[in-house]
Amino acid sequence: MNIPFFSFEKMNHEIKTEITTAFEAFFDSGWYVLGERVRAFEEAYALYNKVNYAVGLSNGLDALHLALKALGVGPGDEVIVPSNTYIATVLAVSYTGATPVFTEPRPDTYNIDPARIEACITSKTRAIIPVHLYGQSCEMDTIMDIAARHNLFVVEDNAQSQGASFKGRLTGTWGDINATSFYPGKNLGALGDAGAVTTNRQEWAEKITILRNYGSRQKYYNETIGHNMRLDECQAAFLSVKLKYLTKWNQSRVEIAEWYRAGLQHAGNIILPGCHPEAGHVYHQFVIRTEDRDKLQQFLNGHGIGTLIHYPVPPHLQEAYASLGYRKGDFPVAEEIAGTCLSLPVWPGMTEGDVQNVCSKISLFYHG
Ligand SMILES: *Cc1c(COP(=O)(O)O)cnc(C)c1O
Repeated sequence: MNIPFFSFEKMNHEIKTEITTAFEAFFDSGWYVLGERVRAFEEAYALYNKVNYAVGLSNGLDALHLALKALGVGPGDEVIVPSNTYIATVLAVSYTGATPVFTEPRPDTYNIDPARIEACITSKTRAIIPVHLYGQSCEMDTIMDIAARHNLFVVEDNAQSQGASFKGRLTGTWGDINATSFYPGKNLGALGDAGAVTTNRQEWAEKITILRNYGSRQKYYNETIGHNMRLDECQAAFLSVKLKYLTKWNQSRVEIAEWYRAGLQHAGNIILPGCHPEAGHVYHQFVIRTEDRDKLQQFLNGHGIGTLIHYPVPPHLQEAYASLGYRKGDFPVAEEIAGTCLSLPVWPGMTEGDVQNVCSKISLFYHG
């Protein structure tokens, strides 16, 4: 039995009729950029998150970039980011001209370690970007306290965690401006590239609305050097359909994670992902760690089970950031995770039998 790392099949089957209807209405409307579908999705996404504003954008990277830009982050500033994040978080900082400053994650939750943040704060620090990695919220109450004490902005990177929570409050609602991605494989995914920011402050929502559309509030009048970073009407239409299923699909991911936890308890020399007791985890990924990672991955691949490594090279060791001058050993926790982590298949609609099959193959690898 082949088990792909990810599959849209079950989800797509559920929504095919609604998506087709939404596409036809979009097509017949004759209006393809910044219209009623983007407005309707922004309203629905703000309502879902219980925030005042959501602004639809081209993708998650652009959302992070515009969030920082709207907050006035620029050259000479420093922005604190986790040392084990996806490269997009770091690129967004670079786009503004600011310098990314890495801080280590906790090895159990893989999320930014609040106890290490203050040591990274200098007179140049302007913002912290907590990344809710793999679907689990960072410890947002502590992070918000640190930011308030040092007068810093917080931009949550909520790309992997739509619907996750901390102490009952949704991720993407704590920070000043929060960014998310609707890349197809995210928990809420479009059928192409898309993203958004969420915020409670009208001034920032307005700023980003202008920045995404050539720096223009009124057609052909430009008040700032903006971008073309708009959310497409058709992606907005698809996202409005898929948003209705987010809670159900997240529940499916949580159930899959519970099956993995039960099935992997005695499967071998592996470390299961830690879940903070106050975090409502939505399992964008189920990431185990093992010294035998590469061999285990090969073994599973040989048995038709797809896995991925999120991520094999931490940002500070990427060629793109050679100019920052970091070396191997500078961020040992991030490097350890990169060298040992393995993401197992998680996709809504995966059955208990699928999960048991993965677990029994892992057990076979260790116990023969
Ligand atoms: C996917 C992702 C992004 C970037 O989103 P895109 O829509 O692909 O640009 C940013 N941060 C994290 C943590 C992500 O997983």
